[in-house]
Amino acid sequence: MELWQELLRQSVDSGKDLVERFGFDRELADRLNKLFHIRINPYYLSLIRYPYDPIWLQCIPDGKELEDDGLPEDPLAEDSHSPVPSIVHRYPDRVLFLTTSQCSMYCRFCTRKRKVGDSTKINTKYIQDGINYIAEHPEVRDIILSGGDPLMLTDFMLEKILSGLRNIAHVEIIRLGTKMPCVLPQRITPKLCKMLRKYHPIYVNTHFNHPWECTPEAKQACEMLSDAGVPVGNQTVLMKGVNDNPEVMLELFRKLLFMRVRPYYLYQADITKGANHFRTPVSVGLDIMDKLRGHTSGLAIPYFVIDAPGGGGKIPLLPQYVLGRNGNQIILRNYKYDIYTYPDVEEEIKRPTTTVEKKFNRKKSRPKKVYEPDKVHV
Ligand SMILES: *Cc1c(COP(=O)(O)O)cnc(C)c1O
Ligand code: SF4
Repeated sequence: MELWQELLRQSVDSGKDLVERFGFDRELADRLNKLFHIRINPYYLSLIRYPYDPIWLQCIPDGKELEDDGLPEDPLAEDSHSPVPSIVHRYPDRVLFLTTSQCSMYCRFCTRKRKVGDSTKINTKYIQDGINYIAEHPEVRDIILSGGDPLMLTDFMLEKILSGLRNIAHVEIIRLGTKMPCVLPQRITPKLCKMLRKYHPIYVNTHFNHPWECTPEAKQACEMLSDAGVPVGNQTVLMKGVNDNPEVMLELFRKLLFMRVRPYYLYQADITKGANHFRTPVSVGLDIMDKLRGHTSGLAIPYFVIDAPGGGGKIPLLPQYVLGRNGNQIILRNYKYDIYTYPDVEEEIKRPTTTVEKKFNRKKSRPKKVYEPDKVHV
């Protein structure tokens, strides 16, 4: 057994553990355990410094998870974009490929709580269907292995999937969406890296939420991936009490860059049943973005996105930099809130109409584009 598998075996993973190790009330512990799996491996557990700190909040269940009646279990309508159980096909040229329901730590804020940890919903037995679906859809050129955490699979199983995908001529890039570099960096072994190299171009998107997660172990794991030619990006979820603060985010993103990890997305927390207590006002995220741009390396700045409820995909949000227009003058402000005007080009530059524009022009019935706050979908 490899070290990471041994660590997994020693995880806190039951209502009983919550009672004995964290002083939970028995009945509450059982109800929480039934709602969503509990697993905290000893590595991640060791990062907790004090009760209710940013690490604790991410991994130790909370009674608030039981309060969210009436909220959607599938806020992103993934299931309606799922042609076969292992595939979410929302965008034209790329798919999510759900390969396992397992994670090495179950994040209390997980968007996919309804499925993750449940092997009736995500199962290796659906993997072949997923590969077949991709083979039959030549428009799909980018595959994102997700789950659960695809690095919960053994190297052997993962290699079978990667080689299956590489046998499909139209598959260009493969991404692994994995939290392992953050939550169980021991999973990134020389053997794994050697295997991944055979299937390039492989990208990894990992998931760090707090600077305390940037440990020497995590740094080593990320560097091993980079050294194997795998570019590593990071997705962060903005969460109340965890990282809803510009200084914390700045420290996190700088530390990630220092580990050769490029911040990619900062997510507004989804409206998920059992995770609503992590949500922050959108203005908090915009304020964080405002305090990053210009104040630190552009490389350290992710896109702040809202994954649109109902399945509209990721929508980027920016602080207001364009203050208005005066004739051909665009009025802008910079990161220090100094005002500048930029004279726009007035002449029409002749260029071919793009396909996107053609498609847009064809939709004659489209309502006039006016801003109607009442009609904004939330
Ligand atoms: C996030 C996501 C992707 C990948 O989006 P990128 O912007 O290309 O990183 C693909 N499919 C689904 C369903 C997603 O949620
Ligand atoms: S690792 Fe990802 S899929 Fe697993 S519980 Fe955390 S957020 Fe959910």
